[in-house]
Amino acid sequence: MKVQPTNWIFASGQAWKLYVVVAGFGGTLGCFTLALFSLGDSGGEFVAMVVCGLFLGCATFVWFTAVLRCPSCMAKLVWTMASSRPHSSWIIDLAALDRCPACNQKLDHLSRPQA
Ligand SMILES: [Zn+2]
Repeated sequence: MKVQPTNWIFASGQAWKLYVVVAGFGGTLGCFTLALFSLGDSGGEFVAMVVCGLFLGCATFVWFTAVLRCPSCMAKLVWTMASSRPHSSWIIDLAALDRCPACNQKLDHLSRPQA
């Protein structure tokens, strides 16, 4: 028996985008860590690493808001949720969505084979 995906991000085949985002933010943390370790050196590397980290973090977030979409109406769901929900809970609400807030289509069965 196949295990059904537990939320729409997995069900609609967009889970790989989460891994890219984790990798992107991991790289951001890596840059900041390298920046800290380079503090004892000349100082030029510190600025370069912080700039790299900020750029990577911003690029990752912008990419994430642009690519995680409703498979039906292509609404940018990260942006929709981030701009309409409280800062403390929009990520949880986003992960727990079962209908698109823009078009009201059920999100979690769109990519499953038609019965
Ligand atoms: Zn939609």
